[in-house]
Amino acid sequence: MPPPPKRVAVIGAGPAGLAAAEVLAEAGLHVRVFDAGSAPARKYLRAGVGGLNITHSEPLQDFFIRYGNALTWLRPHLEAFPPGQVRDWLHRLGIPTFVGSSGRVFPQDLRAAPSLRAWLKKLGGLGVSLHLRHRWLGWSPEGACRFATPDGDFEENFDGLILATGGATWKRLGADGAWVPFLNGKGVACAPFRPSNCGFECDWTPIFAGKFPGSPVKPVKAALLTRNDAAIERQGEFIVTENGVEGSLIYALSAPLRDEIEAAGFVDLYLDLAPDRNLTQLTYDLSLPRGKDSLSNHLRKRGIDGVKAGLLREVHGAKLSEDPAKLAVIIKNLPLRLRRCRPLDEAISCAGGITAAELTPDLMLKKLPGVFACGEMLDWEAPTGGYLLTACLATGRGAARGLIRHLGR
Ligand SMILES: Cc1cc2nc3c(=O)[nH]c(=O)nc-3n(C[C@H](O)[C@H](O)[C@H](O)COP(=O)(O)OP(=O)(O)OC[C@H]3O[C@@H](n4cnc5c(N)ncnc54)[C@H](O)[C@@H]3O)c2cc1C
Repeated sequence: MPPPPKRVAVIGAGPAGLAAAEVLAEAGLHVRVFDAGSAPARKYLRAGVGGLNITHSEPLQDFFIRYGNALTWLRPHLEAFPPGQVRDWLHRLGIPTFVGSSGRVFPQDLRAAPSLRAWLKKLGGLGVSLHLRHRWLGWSPEGACRFATPDGDFEENFDGLILATGGATWKRLGADGAWVPFLNGKGVACAPFRPSNCGFECDWTPIFAGKFPGSPVKPVKAALLTRNDAAIERQGEFIVTENGVEGSLIYALSAPLRDEIEAAGFVDLYLDLAPDRNLTQLTYDLSLPRGKDSLSNHLRKRGIDGVKAGLLREVHGAKLSEDPAKLAVIIKNLPLRLRRCRPLDEAISCAGGITAAELTPDLMLKKLPGVFACGEMLDWEAPTGGYLLTACLATGRGAARGLIRHLGR
């Protein structure tokens, strides 16, 4: 008689946990997935609302750079499940993909639900059982996993455990970070959660705050100088909100912006409101005869109107220089002071969580042999662009391979 299959549990039915379950089940393990919520992968589904950006098509060396210092330990997992394989995996689920103009990769219909349905069907076919409304509560003194369910609490032992309980943003979708004390109690260090891919607050004047929320600022270049004298610059667009700024350009710069605010209490983001013209061209445009036009009309005819003109007045006050050369410098170098990150719960993702020092290269917790972790509960961050989901899938699969090796299979 062959030995009975090993019984393993995955805590968290987000993309990282489901990716782990898939690899474990394909290796012949008996897999149960537990999730505190009433439905699986709620954040994955939410990500599909604006178009599920599952990965990115840029050259691998550029792709890897997006993970910053965390690449040192993430790299083997990303190499084992790089963007091309993410797309192949979706295609095998019957979901065609396309590359958008920015290089981002999406399912053909942009939605997350069809791929989740196909994925869950595949997992069911592999024998994976999904237990919803099962909240993991850490370990009993004897080392069993503790769960709370609507039918009461219970404890259970497994041959191996994969934790995939997410970070600490959008709590209403399940990732509440409530697992940190369970791991701290076992001596596992977790870095504090910090918002990533988040909006920022400025102290708008009431006039500006009353007029421009929801206005897109585009095209625009944004730059900051860090304390280490690194100049970081990106072009794109952002949106003015009631209390600040958000949107893809801001998210792309959010990690250094957040770090500067943490260090100095504020950060100046330098906006180039006319990125399509160099200083000489813009000075020339602004020097053209303006006749009886007011300065506002003159600027409008030179492409600086609406929210861009509003930003000029907001930063420089009503009394803008009328000198074309000075005005051109102001338009191309407008310092917008950002004072605070928006709250953690609003952020698309977070930094913080289980630190790399607590993990083996296989993503096992050094202090808890047989317990692996993956996804956003680990301490890494990356911009939007498909990098988040790719790393969640890759670490989920990596943790599963680690557990399979640990179980000697
Ligand atoms: C609005 C929005 C849009 C996004 N769009 C994109 C995008 O287009 N592309 C991209 O790459 N990324 C995107 N992301 C980020 C991406 O969704 C996350 O990085 C990803 O879902 C994290 O996966 P995860 O499996 O680690 O955690 P989660 O998806 O957060 O899953 C964690 C799961 O664990 C469960 N859980 C937590 N605690 C317990 C417990 N104690 N017991 C049992 N279960 C528990 C939760 O209920 C949840 O189901 C977006 C995020 C948001 C908020």
